[in-house]
Amino acid sequence: MTDVLVIGGGVVGLSIAYELARSDADVQLIDRGDLGREASWAGAGILPPVNAATALHPYDQLRALSFALHAQWAARLQDETGIDNGYRRCGALYVARTAGEAAALRGMYLTFREEQVAIEQVAPGVVSELEPALTTERFRAAYDVPEECQLRNPRYLRALIAACQRYGVALSPQVAAEDFVVRGDRLEGVRTSGGMLQAKRYCLASGAWTEQLLRRLEIPSGIFPIRGQMLLYRCPQQVFTRVLNEGNRYLVAREDGYVLAGSTEEEVGFDTRTTAVGLAELRAFAEALVPSLASATLEKSWAGLRPATFDGLPYLGRIPTLCNAFVAAGHFRSGLYLSPGTAVLMSQLLRDEPPTIDLAPFRIGRG
Ligand SMILES: Cc1cc2nc3c(=O)[nH]c(=O)nc-3n(C[C@H](O)[C@H](O)[C@H](O)COP(=O)(O)OP(=O)(O)OC[C@H]3O[C@@H](n4cnc5c(N)ncnc54)[C@H](O)[C@@H]3O)c2cc1C
Repeated sequence: MTDVLVIGGGVVGLSIAYELARSDADVQLIDRGDLGREASWAGAGILPPVNAATALHPYDQLRALSFALHAQWAARLQDETGIDNGYRRCGALYVARTAGEAAALRGMYLTFREEQVAIEQVAPGVVSELEPALTTERFRAAYDVPEECQLRNPRYLRALIAACQRYGVALSPQVAAEDFVVRGDRLEGVRTSGGMLQAKRYCLASGAWTEQLLRRLEIPSGIFPIRGQMLLYRCPQQVFTRVLNEGNRYLVAREDGYVLAGSTEEEVGFDTRTTAVGLAELRAFAEALVPSLASATLEKSWAGLRPATFDGLPYLGRIPTLCNAFVAAGHFRSGLYLSPGTAVLMSQLLRDEPPTIDLAPFRIGRG
């Protein structure tokens, strides 16, 4: 019998399947659509730095573990699959044009200093020396964060799929989990659109849709979708290198001239359509920050559903009423970032090893 059935083939499910299969587990992964085409494809791939030495809360420890693992995973995935997932240390600029944004950045600056994460205040007149493509408008505040990284999530997903195949994961796209068969404290099987599937253990990693599956198991969870819209520009060459952050909006430049402008935060249920208003706002933001984007080609736009939770922490752990069913979902704006650390911890749990980070704050059924 299969050791673990993973339900959901986004970055979280694929990373868990990859990590388990590398430890010789026999893994099947199902997704109701194509693999890696929901939030994980829609995201930007920004990886803000964190200092492992000062990370005290388990969430910060998960961030630190993941931040360190990304460098290792990128190199290993390239060796295993030949795919470069675009992981780069590109640095970031955080800028503010309003008093509110400036105050928020000051808070971030003090936190980074306390945590000993590299950050430098940049005098307003010097900002355009760092990134000449930026507007010449004077910012109220600007900070340089040299250790911020990025990866190209569509490539990361392709690499994870190829690596899963290499390690023998049975990948089953177009197979939806529909209901569960429970006997006592055991999950006996999953009814899917392709028939009944059974495994020794089960891991629900279905992003924003995990809520619907947990409801079938009568487990309350605080997971809900938050839509994020994104706009893609194409420029003849790379126009800036750092991630440019202002408020909760950002611009990410890829090496081949593409620029991502993101993103909105909208509570609209499971609706992945873009809107004229959302895209117009993103366009106004992007072209005010980097004026040359006004003459770049608008390549495409899309929207994805971030799996948000009521307290901002993901759910990682065993379902309290079932001895063999687990959840890894609810990573909101950071699922790409937290995917390798999540995979390592969930693989430990699913193989009966003690997790290296205290998972109590992430327990299922909290609230
Ligand atoms: C616009 C935007 C920008 C973002 N930017 C970043 C960023 O810069 N950095 C970062 O770290 N994160 C970012 N995120 C967040 C990140 O994308 C998510 O946290 C992450 O992708 C969640 O991964 P997941 O695997 O849990 O969910 P998903 O990628 O949504 O995958 C869930 C999968 O489960 C499948 N599924 C659902 N129901 C079932 C079922 N019943 N049966 C079988 N399969 C099922 C779905 O088809 C889907 O493939 C961004 C998100 C958005 C939308």
